[in-house]
Amino acid sequence: LAICEVARFRTFSSNNPHQLPSRRLGLEEDDDQKGIESTIGNTPLFVIKSLTEATGCTILAKAEFLNGAGGSPKDRVALSIIQKAESAGLLVPHSGDTIYEGTVGSTGISLATLCRARGYLAHICMPSDQAIEKSDMLLKLGAIVDRVRPAPIVDQAHFVNQARNLAAEHTADPKKRGRGFFADQFETEANWQAHYEATGPEIFRQSGKNLDAFVAGAGTGGTISGVAMFLKAQLPDIRIVLADPTGSGLFNKIKHGVMFHPDEKEGTRRRHQVDTIIEGIGLTRSTANFEAGRELIDDAVKVTDAQALAMARWLVEKDGIFVGSSSAVNCVATVQTALKLGPGHRLATVLCDSGARHLSKFWNQAGNVAGTTSTRLQDVLQLKIDR
Ligand code: PMP
Repeated sequence: LAICEVARFRTFSSNNPHQLPSRRLGLEEDDDQKGIESTIGNTPLFVIKSLTEATGCTILAKAEFLNGAGGSPKDRVALSIIQKAESAGLLVPHSGDTIYEGTVGSTGISLATLCRARGYLAHICMPSDQAIEKSDMLLKLGAIVDRVRPAPIVDQAHFVNQARNLAAEHTADPKKRGRGFFADQFETEANWQAHYEATGPEIFRQSGKNLDAFVAGAGTGGTISGVAMFLKAQLPDIRIVLADPTGSGLFNKIKHGVMFHPDEKEGTRRRHQVDTIIEGIGLTRSTANFEAGRELIDDAVKVTDAQALAMARWLVEKDGIFVGSSSAVNCVATVQTALKLGPGHRLATVLCDSGARHLSKFWNQAGNVAGTTSTRLQDVLQLKIDR
């Protein structure tokens, strides 16, 4: 019966222009990753119609929110980190080893899910100013969650330092069960490598090997670096553009070589960490993952919170696309880049997670979308076109 079902689907799908991506069936894959891991990757790339119409360019979006474990591109990274640690003998499946990580949420959710699937414990440190639904999800997944006060990276109270220290304490304590392992998403090569090995090739293939620009924000830098490394090797003329929210130093780093002006007071620099409602992207320091691809980044676009909110509402209203804050930032920067390049170009960006993960914070400010507006996209975003 199963064989008949597959045959029937094949006939149906080959004649149907709206066929489902085969990854959703999971019937044809000869894959050694069983279980939830096999829903990670091969996400669809689709056209955002309203942005395509408004810019005269083809705007393509990689639906990374469809990764099936934790619902974000961090599924790829978490799986890559765990598999590499298992190969190196640093983690043993179903041993009850503990994985520690500092995360604003997405990586924690992906890790906590995969920890369940592979028999580990997840201990997550995250800043207390992130949307509450992320830490709620982590608790439901059975992770240990430390919500820590937002602090600069030089402070041991910073969520990444806390996770690293806890992993070291675990390793040093003979009474602790199993191994302690620090996932280290900001610095580990396993992060950008996951995007170099899969996300980049998928975008290249799915775009018909024809792209003029790729636009993405950086939280660790893994996505933009890994995808840039792959795409630049295939398409040397492609423009790699960083989308950067308010308060991040990465825009300055790309444009002027320094993150913050040397005259800037320390107090101001500290505030940079919390003066945006955007979650998941923007950095006040450089990381190994950002540095891995930094020289491949051709341009950077600064995006305000107001523009991101307007874009998030626009995407729901015009296209029925309900995304989180970093995806909205990516789309604003993609539109800016399209308008700069001029009509006829092909651009791709990443939709990282669903708006459902941002209800209490970002979408609370965006409000309910009611009715439709006839206002032009450029006016809604208050874009100043600077060709
Ligand atoms: N969007 C969201 C929601 C994220 O959580 C992250 C990672 N923190 C990113 C985008 C950025 O991805 P990367 O870490 O690969 O730069």
